[in-house]
This record gives sequence, C-alpha cells and structure tokens, in this order.
Amino acid sequence: MTVKKTSVIGFPRIGRKRELKFACEKFFKGEISGDELQRVGAEMRRYGWQRQQERGISLIPSNDFSFYDNVLDTAFLLGVVPERYRQLGLSELETYFAAAHGYQGEKGDVKALPMKKWFNTNYHYIEPELDDDTVLRLQGDKPVRDYAEAKALGIDTVPALIGAYTFLHLARYCGQKRAADFVEAAVEAYAQIGGQLAAAGASWISIAEPALVLDVTAEERALFKAIYASLVGRLHATGLKVLLQTYFGDIRDVYRDVVALGFDGIGLDFVEGQKSLELLQTGFPKDALLFAGVVNGKNIWRADYAQKNALIASIEQLVAPERVVISTSCSLLHVPYTVAAEERLSTDILDYFAFAEEKLTELVDLASGDTAALGRNKTLFAGVRTVPHADVRNALAQLSEADFERTPARLARRQVQKEVFRLPALPTTTIGSFPQTAEVRAARTAFRKGTISREQYIDFNRNKILECIKLQESIGLDVLVHGEFERNDMVEYFGSKMDGYVFTQNAWVQSYGTRCVKPPIVWGDVSRSAPMTVDWSVFAQSCTNKPVKGMLTGPVTILNWSFPREDISLKEQALQIALAIRDEVLDLESNGIRIIQIDEAALREKLPLRKSCWHSDYLDWAIPAFRLVHAKVKPETQIHTHMCYSEFGDIVRDIDAMDADVITFEASRSDLKLLDALKAVQFETEVGPGVYDIHSPRVPSVDEIVGVLHKIIAKIPKENVWVNPDCGLKTRGEQETTQSLKNLVEAAKRLRSEVF
Ligand code: GLN
Ligand code: ZN
Repeated sequence: MTVKKTSVIGFPRIGRKRELKFACEKFFKGEISGDELQRVGAEMRRYGWQRQQERGISLIPSNDFSFYDNVLDTAFLLGVVPERYRQLGLSELETYFAAAHGYQGEKGDVKALPMKKWFNTNYHYIEPELDDDTVLRLQGDKPVRDYAEAKALGIDTVPALIGAYTFLHLARYCGQKRAADFVEAAVEAYAQIGGQLAAAGASWISIAEPALVLDVTAEERALFKAIYASLVGRLHATGLKVLLQTYFGDIRDVYRDVVALGFDGIGLDFVEGQKSLELLQTGFPKDALLFAGVVNGKNIWRADYAQKNALIASIEQLVAPERVVISTSCSLLHVPYTVAAEERLSTDILDYFAFAEEKLTELVDLASGDTAALGRNKTLFAGVRTVPHADVRNALAQLSEADFERTPARLARRQVQKEVFRLPALPTTTIGSFPQTAEVRAARTAFRKGTISREQYIDFNRNKILECIKLQESIGLDVLVHGEFERNDMVEYFGSKMDGYVFTQNAWVQSYGTRCVKPPIVWGDVSRSAPMTVDWSVFAQSCTNKPVKGMLTGPVTILNWSFPREDISLKEQALQIALAIRDEVLDLESNGIRIIQIDEAALREKLPLRKSCWHSDYLDWAIPAFRLVHAKVKPETQIHTHMCYSEFGDIVRDIDAMDADVITFEASRSDLKLLDALKAVQFETEVGPGVYDIHSPRVPSVDEIVGVLHKIIAKIPKENVWVNPDCGLKTRGEQETTQSLKNLVEAAKRLRSEVF
C-alpha cells in the first residue's frame, strides 16, 4: 500500500479554551485594542497549523480562520461592503464587526447584515449584499497575509477561499443586477488573489464551492461554467494548481462540467455525498488529484477503519491510488478541538470519539495503512458499545396514529383558549431566556463545582425568577416566562436531564460569530427518569397571575443540536426524545402550567439540501415527532413553538402541520420575507414574527417596531398576530433588554388603539 497524501478542508478556530470568543468580547467592550485581538487571532491560527503539521497532514489550509465568518471575510476581500457600514468611518476591523452584528454608537446606528444557516450545519454565515452600485473588486489581502504568516512559521499551506459561485449564490441582490452581472468582476478579483498568492510562494489554491451540492438549475450551471471557464486558466497562468473543493453532499448536477474544466484537484464528499461514488464511475480526469472526503467532518464518532478502507478501495477502482488524497468530508470547524481536553469521561467512552485533532490522526492512519492502528480500530469496533433500553423500544413499537393527532382541531381549541386566557389583541411575549448575566453564570458554575449547595442554587434562581417576573409585569408583557436562568443551553440542559446522553466539558463548536455550542452526544437509547423543568415553572407561575409559559426544547431540535448516533436511524432517535419530552409536557400541564412552549429552533437545520429529499428523508418523521410531544394535552392548554436562524418560506405548510397553537419566528433580520409565504398558504397557526433583532445590542425605537407591526398586519390577519422579539434574550445586556421590551409593549399598545 502506498502512503497517500492527506488534506484538511478547515480547522476549528475559536481556540481550545474559546480564547477567540473571550478576546472578541473584550474588544467589543473596549477592554483590549484591535492589535491585541489580532494577536489572539494569530495564536489561534498558529495552533491549528502546527497541530496539523505535527500530525503529518500534507495539505494544510490557511485563510480558514475568521474573526466572525468566512463569507463575511470574502465580502470584505471583494469590496462587497454596503456603504452604510463604510460611512460610519470606523477602523477596518470595527467596520467588519458592524456589518456582522450591527453598530449603535456615536458614529451612527445601523443594523447587522442578515445571518443565514450555512447549508445543513449549525454554523451561520453573514449574507453579503450587492446592489447596482456595488463595485466588486479585490480590496483586501487576508488570504495572502495568512499564507505568509504560516510560511513564516515554516508551514507551507494551501490558501482556502470560498469560491465566486458560492459567494454569488449566497448573496442578496438589492437592485436590478443579478449574480451574472458580477461574474466578470469576480473572475478578475479571484485571478488577482491567485497572482498574489503565487507571488507569495503558494503552489495550490483551494476554492470551496459547496453551493454545487444543492439542486443546480440550468442558469446556475451556466454561471458556474462561465466563472471557471476563464478563472482556471487565469489561475494556471499564475503558476497555481487549482483545487475545486466541494462538501455537504454530491455534485450530481455539475459533475460533467467539473471534470471538464481543467482543475488540478477535485474534492468530493464521500460521507454525505450519496452519489459521489456513482459520479466517479462516469470518469475522472486522468491527471487530476481526487481529494476524497472520507473522514466525517461533522460527527464526533471514531471512523471505522475497515469500512473506510473498503470505501477507499472502491474509489481506487476508479482513480489510480497515487492520485487519491485522503481528506475530511468538510471543514473540521463543525467538530470540537480534541478528546484530550475531556477529563471527566472514562476512556471506555472517549475511545469511541474522534474530534478535530483525532481526525487528523485518522486521516494519516487511513493514508498510511498503519497496521497497528488498524488492529486497534478493529478491536474497538468488535466490542459492544451500548445495549438497547427495553422500555423505550417497547413504547416506540406501540405508537399508533392517535398518538400523533391532537384533538379537537386547532380552530376549535382556539375558541376555548380565548375564553380561558382573555389576552388583549396583539398579545406581547418573549421567547424565553432573559439576560444571562455574569452573576447568573457564576451561580451555575458554583453549583456545578460544589461551592454552593443545591439549596443555595435553588434560592438564587428563585430570586432571579421572581425578579424576572416582576420586571415583565412592570414592563407590561402579557404572557410571561421564567427566564431560563438555570439553563446554559437549550439542548444541553435537557440532554443532561435525560438518560442516554453523554456530556463533554470542552467540546465547543462554533454556531455563529464567536458564539459556540457544546452539543451533547446521543450515546444510547434516550429516556426521562424524572421531571426536568416542572419545579422552576411552577415556582414562576406562583409569582404572578399572568400566564407563565413552560419552556421546553422540542425533539427535533434536541436531536439536531446533538451529535447523533450512527448505529440507529435519526427518526428512531427523534421519537425516543419525543416520548421523553411528552412526559414533561404532561407533567407541566398537570402542575397547572397552561401555556407550554416547545422550541424547535433548529427544525430546518437538517432539512436535506436537495428539495427532492425533503419529505422522504426528513419532514415525514420530524413533523410527527413534534406532534407526538403535544398531542395528548387538553384543549385549553396552549402550545407554542419557536423557530429561528433560517428561512422557513418553503416549509410553512409543514410548520403549520406541527399543529401548535402559536408560533414565534425569527423574522427581523430577513426583512420579514416570511410574511408573504405565510400569507400565501393562509397560515393557520397564530404567529409572532420577531419585531426586532436580538443578535445586536441596539435598542429598537417604538416607531421602528410600530413600522414592523404595520408590515406584519398588512399580510397576516391581525387577530392572529403576537408581538415578540426574534429570539431569546440570554446574550443581551439587562439595560438594553428592558428598554427594548418597553418599546415593544408601547408599540403593541399603540397599534391596538390604532387598528382594533
Ligand atoms: N427559549 C429559548 C431562549 O429563549 C429559545 C432559543 C432559540 O430559539 N435559539 O433562549
Ligand atoms: Zn430563536
């Protein structure tokens, strides 16, 4: 067996201890300078490069680092920065952050660019905006700086860029011009970057075009061809070798074109790309390298070498072994840094995990065919990891259609609920969490470390809940929440209360900007042994006469934000979780909680990228899993749900079919585009499209919110409208939160008097 080359698409960048996050936060507060922040960034890059070098990775990426998001980096690189951010007259770094999360200060008041879900991951990018005046041209030199920085450390990297096709595909067009109008300028800019990289000494450039794994229309295909028909030659003229890197699926719609365009390397995903092998059978360019994405960049399970070697063997039937490079299936950004940072889990468990750094070893093991490593891996996979939970398996087997059907029908329940709650028109509420101040986090940490007792912790949280309820009453909100002070994370909290989950200490993964999540790991069959939220909700309800929402996370979101098992289906895992949450819903109800919100923030997350698979592969079990959770409640119990982070326009019918009574959505960052879709399907669920963006500290004025509400009631029957922020408030400061909510309540009141 020949020793093959190895390649990595991208590496985590937030820091093993989230150093980048903390440094950014200090920078935002003015506690450290831009230079100091830059130094932390450099440290993060150095760490990643050196780790990959030590482990023996042949092709190590650079420019995969970002202070916020690589798409936003690309926009700045290409000069695609809306004038309203430039006009602020801030430093380059501050302008960048202004576009990322908004700016409100001495120099002006601008909202952030919209944030969108990055394909089928839990990472989010900033949507670039092009209008008819946008002059797309090379403005920055980040790829060259990063390349030179690595080189100064003695590491020759492969500069990685997001390609022009994907960039133009993801962008929003505000004027008449469309992607095709920017192709020429984009080719010019990428060719110039190539020239600079080649001059700096680079031999490869890696261009990522994940948008090719989506359904590609004839027009889009023409656009892709137009870009690369000229760009590949221009880059070759600089002396660079060009790798076209794809991931998150297969490129069935353009494979023919890709193999004909003269790329020196083609990166295909053999983990999520159902048809990648089939495509390879249709031919592969004789002199190109195949970057075979065989190590899963999205999940944390150790690779089964026997299985991977079989895959590599079938690839080598089609491409000569010496031209196969062993690669990750996507960037390792989507997994944590290293298993070595986990001190609490036993090695019996940790042995089954491979995070980013361990995946480097897997790449090298697979490329070298190391027999000792193969033997150890074989022994591991021959063992029994987890045994089925009989009760859970039985309960699942006994489910019938009635378990998924709530009665009476929604419109009949609505009448009952109107009588019970007697809420004003345009009822106001929040999404659940209130600011998680340093004090709140400190109490949780102290409890976890045992420095305060359970009683002290409960007391602390009860005080916070009481304070939060009083605050909401004084602000004048109609439906209250307890504030979620006991939760670090909406998924981890539930995972830690259910059996079947495993938790890490440091396995952070970037979600957006510097925000990270620590997804729990589904280890075995999931079940609930005791109530998880009832005490907090009951206490909160005892503090007020207004209804307080019980707050749960739905099964699909819990699963989508966990690292799932690979030995049973996602459907089975979702239904197991749904049964556990159903028990919690019924317990809340029997303890006097009359409104229960079951968040499905991440429902859209795992929607297959190709439309043709949406129902068969996903919605046909995801929607029923949600229905299972609430189908058994009384007619007068009001079920809310909440969704955020992405566009829902195309699945609003399915969302209506979840059969909730009320849904709150993130909407403000995407300019309320959702409303047209809701109108088009005559959306039946009552709906609260978020009236302001909670990802930014800026306070929306009353007039601004009234303006948004007018847009909402122009499209949705006003009787069905709720008034609420976009999402939970846990990342916000207390003052801005109070002021924003006061303005929200004031706006609702003003509108009530105007239109009712
Ligand atoms: N109830 C959660 C909160 O308010 C919802 C968070 C979310 O949708 N991401 O924090
Ligand atoms: Zn949300």
